[in-house]
Amino acid sequence: MSAGSTADWIQDSRQRSAFRRRLLAWYGKNQRDLPWRRTADPYAVWLSEIMLQQTRVETARGYYERFLQRFPTVTDLAVADEADVLKLWEGLGYYSRARNLHRAAQTIVERHDGDLPDSYEGLIRLPGIGPYTAAALSSILFDRPHPALDGNVMRALSRLLRVEEDPRRASVRAEMVRAGEALMPRTGTGDLNQALIELGAKVCTPRQPGCGSCPVANWCRAYNELEDPSVLPVRVPRKKRPHLQVTAGIIRRRGKVLIAQRPAGGMLAGLWEFPGGKQEPGESLVECLRREIGEELGILIDVEEEVACVDHEFTHLSITLHAFSARYRSGRVRAIGCSAFEWIDTDRLQQFAIPRADHRVLEELAVAGTSLAALINRE
Ligand code: SF4
Repeated sequence: MSAGSTADWIQDSRQRSAFRRRLLAWYGKNQRDLPWRRTADPYAVWLSEIMLQQTRVETARGYYERFLQRFPTVTDLAVADEADVLKLWEGLGYYSRARNLHRAAQTIVERHDGDLPDSYEGLIRLPGIGPYTAAALSSILFDRPHPALDGNVMRALSRLLRVEEDPRRASVRAEMVRAGEALMPRTGTGDLNQALIELGAKVCTPRQPGCGSCPVANWCRAYNELEDPSVLPVRVPRKKRPHLQVTAGIIRRRGKVLIAQRPAGGMLAGLWEFPGGKQEPGESLVECLRREIGEELGILIDVEEEVACVDHEFTHLSITLHAFSARYRSGRVRAIGCSAFEWIDTDRLQQFAIPRADHRVLEELAVAGTSLAALINRE
């Protein structure tokens, strides 16, 4: 795995004990005061782990508190409408997390009497819980000996152990899991996992690790053997993300605007948006929008001017979203390429969960000195 194999110190039980003592003492003094660290409620801790999967701590904090106020128990979440759950998640992104959380809550209530399973194996069977989250929850809540290897911990471990291969490779990752298992104490596994996560997040940072103040620098092979520890972990360049040109229609009819719900199972499933879609080769943006609206909703529209243009990034692709003002012309609206549609008064839009890119269209309209209501009420 490394310039040879796993660092020698991790094979030595006295070294491992000394490493743990030092790391835990540092964590005891330096851990951040976070709301989910002040609770022993498994549901709340689980919620925090799901929110933190792709969201920064500072952003997650407000959402976490609002979510618990609205759905204080797993049963409250299980019986909620998915639309309400998505609405509360609006703006956090990666909406499959919210849908999985909701489904998992229903499973917990139906099959586990409302209690989170207390083992890694039970947790990982729930929707939305992968190896990292199952390890984190089983250790924090039930003191199970599973290393929680998120990006922060993988980075710190690759340096501590001088791993000189891509840790995203399955064989390298498996060896790091074994190293992490060797580090687990008999009791207090949750604290050790959280201390490693904190080390990676606060000290062993990607570009400029704080080796001078690192509590475990003595054990760090990258620090002690390499000129620049930040060359690890090995980064194999990712493939370039595709960039798409996408259109959306702000379509009006008799003072109402048309919104469509995205199909189940795809990107942003279940969210509501201004309908449209991606430009095909050789097609103008206006032609694209007319075609997409015909395919998605079965109607003809008159496309007017472009009223907003925003860039937006997803995990696997980026888009430029061109929003056009448009007027309904003819045809019976049908949900052909969407789950549902509604003609709504503009002041009802806030009741629907809409994607971030559509929010940004509204923001851009406001910056340009107009509003959705002004667009919809024009002749
Ligand atoms: S010594 Fe530096 S590279 Fe090693 S674990 Fe600490 S911060 Fe990371």
